[in-house]
Order: sequence, then structure tokens, then C-alpha cells
Amino acid sequence: MASNNDLPKCSFCSRHEDSVEKLISGPNAYICDKCVRLCIDIITKKTTSAPKLKMLKPKEIFDQLSDYIIGQETAKKSISVAVYNHYKRIKNFHLENTKKIEYNKSNVLLLGPTGSGKTMLARTLAKILDIPFALVDATTLTEAGYVGEDVENIILRLVQNADYDIAAAEQGIIYVDEIDKIGKTSSNVSITRDVSGEGVQQALLKIVEGTIANIPPKGGRKHPNQEYIKVNTENILFIVGGAFVHLPTIISQRLGKGTIGFEEKPPHKDADIDEINYLLSQVETEDLVKYGLIPEFIGRFNSIANCNELSVQDLIEILTEPKNAIISQYKQLFLDDNVDLQFTDDGLEAIGIKAKETGTGARALRMIVEAQLIDLMFEIPTDEEITSVIIDKECIEGSKKPTVIREKITEEKKTSPDFS
Ligand code: ADP
Repeated sequence: MASNNDLPKCSFCSRHEDSVEKLISGPNAYICDKCVRLCIDIITKKTTSAPKLKMLKPKEIFDQLSDYIIGQETAKKSISVAVYNHYKRIKNFHLENTKKIEYNKSNVLLLGPTGSGKTMLARTLAKILDIPFALVDATTLTEAGYVGEDVENIILRLVQNADYDIAAAEQGIIYVDEIDKIGKTSSNVSITRDVSGEGVQQALLKIVEGTIANIPPKGGRKHPNQEYIKVNTENILFIVGGAFVHLPTIISQRLGKGTIGFEEKPPHKDADIDEINYLLSQVETEDLVKYGLIPEFIGRFNSIANCNELSVQDLIEILTEPKNAIISQYKQLFLDDNVDLQFTDDGLEAIGIKAKETGTGARALRMIVEAQLIDLMFEIPTDEEITSVIIDKECIEGSKKPTVIREKITEEKKTSPDFS
């Protein structure tokens, strides 16, 4: 199988063919559409002044997040307030007044199991605010000089996602996932990688608290004679997240409750979820230090919020309620072929139960639905007699095939799907 590395790539930004819209080839080089646009900007001397920010009130941010994210009220509230304060800080930053008050940065630390919506919260926030967004996995990061990705490449990712508009990138959002895996005591070590994880935290700390980062425009290692892009990270909002699976136990021990009677890894029973949420709401810096995060790093995150493990009811709502919900997407796909797709209530519940059993939260939902519908999506475009499909509990549990309703059609009624 051809790997991504075999594909032609842009000689300027090193993006591969499959991650750009157009890749134009010359005699000895390639250039992608993004770099062409950047060149046009440079030639026409577009000044990149700080773009106007959408100043939304915390309640407005919360409501817009709620259009996409089910539950997670505490996390949504914390993020809404953090963003509002962050923007106040940016406004203040641009004031000429020498007497202006320096606000602390409002970076956010999200605790919560896999598939509970941490990444989605950060991504949706960037969408609502219409600002650049970059997502990185902390486990791929290393201190400069080690094998792996330099921490500063995170900033490059944001700059690339902002189409090299530096001023826009300087007010963007960066989400760093799996932050719990770079603890000092992490067992996740390798010989070439910074063994303690502390070096990565120190490097991250620098860009989180605000620095002028010098980034090689093409990424990769720095070279002495290279030109760098200078990016001020002071107004970039950092959201970091991790599952911190053992944290409830650590907090419980500190509170003198001893070891509590639940399995550390999800899925948990609803009663245990309440207990875990209570414990996480009591989190203190020392608990995170026990987890291996260094106090200076923790100190950079004004708000620490908890994303709950999703209940079966939450998972059912995620299937149907958000804008762009999974079920609505599949219904529309079927409708494009003139087929009415229906899920019974017990069918939706069975999907929720099955997803919960996987222990990967809402991540499992799409796969379960897709597995159920794949054969039908293969057949339907060439079988115009199918008018409706019904999925119930037995289908999801595997004891029955979906109910397919057909209507005999005459020769002249035959149509082909309209993709226009
Ligand atoms: P995490 O970052 O916590 O591991 P993600 O945000 O990547 O989880 O969630 C995976 C997918 O599951 C998302 O893309 C989204 O489709 C869905 N999802 C997870 N949590 C929620 C939620 N609370 N509301 C709506 N959708 C969710």
C-alpha cells in the first residue's frame, strides 16, 4: 500500500497532495493552492492586522456550543467564561493606555474520558468564533533536539490552518490532547523521546504563557541560516485535555475516602459517574502534580473543568439532537436516494447501550450506525423499489436484518439519484 510519504508534496509548505485542494507541478518543484494564495497576498502586500473578534457574551457562547454538544454543562460554562475573559484581555492588549490592567491568560484544562466531547468543544468553539484552530496530540511532542515533533510545530500547524495569516493565528485556539500522558511519572517512555515528559511540559509552558515563537515556515528541524516566521503566542487560547483515569482515586485518597468501589476505566455505572464527577469537581493542583504535571504548568490554566462520562441517555441524544446529528446525516443520505430511513426508539436505545459498552463514549456511535447501514447503502442506489428502511433493537443486537419496505415500480417511474 502506498504510504502518505510517497505522494507528491508542496515544495514550500510540505503538505502532501491529499491534504491540499490543488497541487501544481513545475519542472523540479510543486506548489499547493494555499501557498499560491499566500504568494498573492505577499505580492499584493496584504497587511495582516489583527482580525476583528466576534465579542460574544458567555451565555451566547454557551448556547451556541449547546447546539452541537450534549451535556457537559460545567465544561461549556467554564469555556464560555474563559473565552469571554480572554477576549477582554485581547481588547485590553491592543489599547494604547499605559495604565491598562494586565489580565492573566484564561487557558483551560479539560478532564474527562475518551469520547466525551473535549476535542469537539474546542473545535466547535473555534468554529463559532470563526478563528483558526489547531489540534495536536501531546504524546507526539518532544523537547527540541529529540526525535519527534518540536513543540513549536504546534504553532506552525495553527499558522498553516490560518492560511499563513499570522495576525489571525495569533488569536486562534490550540487544543492539546492526551496531556495526561506527558506526566513526569508516565510509563509511556522511549529512548529517543524525552524520558520524563517534564521537558515537553517546560517547552509547552513557554508557548502557553506567551512567547515570540520562531517557526521554520516549512516545519521540521531548525537550521541556523533559515528564515523564521515570528509568532507571538500571548493571545493564543490554549485548551488542553486528557482522560486522567486514575485522578478520581487520587482525589478520593486525599479527601480521606480511601479507595472507592468503582473500576477506574469507563464504562461506569450511572451511580459511579455521579461519585466521579463529585470527586473531579474537588480537584486541586496537588492531585494533578501526583499525576505528573509540574505545578508551573498547571498554574497556567485558570480554569479546570470536567467533561462527564456520557450516560446511555446522553448517547441517545447525541445521535439525534445536535445540529448535524449522526442520524439526521444518514437520514438525508438515504433521502437523496428517495428512501425513508427510520430508527425505532428501542433501536436508538440499543445503539446507546452498545456504544456505552465499548468504553469509548460517543466515538463508537458512528461506527455502530455505519456497520448497520453499509449493506443497504451499497444496494439502495441500484434497487429503486426500496422506499423505507426500519432499524430496531433486534437489528442493532444482531438477531435480525433491517426491515426493508419495497414498492413495485413501473418502467416509466424509474429515476436516477439527483446529485446536483
Ligand atoms: P474526546 O476529545 O473527549 O476524546 P471527542 O470530542 O473527540 O472526544 O468526541 C468524539 C466524537 O464523539 C465527536 O466528534 C462527536 O461526534 C461525538 N461527541 C462526543 N461527545 C459529545 C457530546 N457531548 N455531544 C455531542 N457529540 C459528542
